Amino acid sequence: MLSYQHAYHAGNFADVHKHLTLFAVVDHLLRKDSSITFIDTHAGRGLYPLSSPEAAKLREHQLGVERLWKVARTLTSPSLLGDWLAALANAQPGGAGKHRLEVYPGSPWWLAHRLRPGDLLTLFELHPGEHQHLSLQALPDNVRRVHGDGLAGLTRGLPATTPRVCVLIDPSYERKAEYIDISQSLMSAMRAARHAVVLVWYPLLPAGRHHELLDALRDSGLRKIWRSELVVHPAGNDQRGMYGSGMLVVNPPWGLEERLTESMASVTPLLGKECRYSSGWWVGE
Ligand code: SAM
Repeated sequence: MLSYQHAYHAGNFADVHKHLTLFAVVDHLLRKDSSITFIDTHAGRGLYPLSSPEAAKLREHQLGVERLWKVARTLTSPSLLGDWLAALANAQPGGAGKHRLEVYPGSPWWLAHRLRPGDLLTLFELHPGEHQHLSLQALPDNVRRVHGDGLAGLTRGLPATTPRVCVLIDPSYERKAEYIDISQSLMSAMRAARHAVVLVWYPLLPAGRHHELLDALRDSGLRKIWRSELVVHPAGNDQRGMYGSGMLVVNPPWGLEERLTESMASVTPLLGKECRYSSGWWVGE
């Protein structure tokens, strides 16, 4: 039984971390001409109005993306963060001239709006209500929406017909076993597509279950697993809530770390005095 709905959390600090990393990875991949199959195993709704009753209930975007949005116009030189905020402005109803942040785009939007004619994107969403929302989004023709299990779909979809593959695995971790399930799905995906660039998001929660995922991957024999973590307050300060966000990138594009570190140096002070960002190889080359 699925109960998680991302609409309650859209635009929070974890989305900033996840979508900025995704944006940077796609940027690097688009530097080459050869076509790419993108797979988003846990798509969600695709676009989140911030005035919806769900978003208004917790207002997590106010402590996340909204803090960046407020300084967007002060960013002068071209930068990853500036480009990301410009893309966010384009997602607003009425386009880039809008001053108010009205919607926050989910991963389907961040991927679909950068597709080139030869690229493909498959979006999986298992929750019937969330899939219904996703099916109403206007997306390009080379986007396929599947109402079904994204991990099974990933295994079925690889190897792909395009020379390159990029996968986002962004589960809700509602089941304790999901951390281990994700490690196994990732291993089987890498067996089918050795050169795929795969991003996996995980939450930092007081229970520390993300270590199960990290440990399983460290022992898996997979190489080139890069990790970044954004911690908004020390773990001990709130025993219930998510205190940070983690991203793994298998086969990270060259130069990714430098670009993200530079952007995160601007992001972390905006997200709070205690906010810290760190990155490096979890498993090296
Ligand atoms: N990736 C989205 C984004 O960045 O905007 C957010 C995804 S949200 C964290 C996780 C989503 O996965 C939920 O909408 C949930 O219904 C869906 N889900 C859970 N288990 C799934 C599965 N096995 N296959 C596909 N979708 C699943």
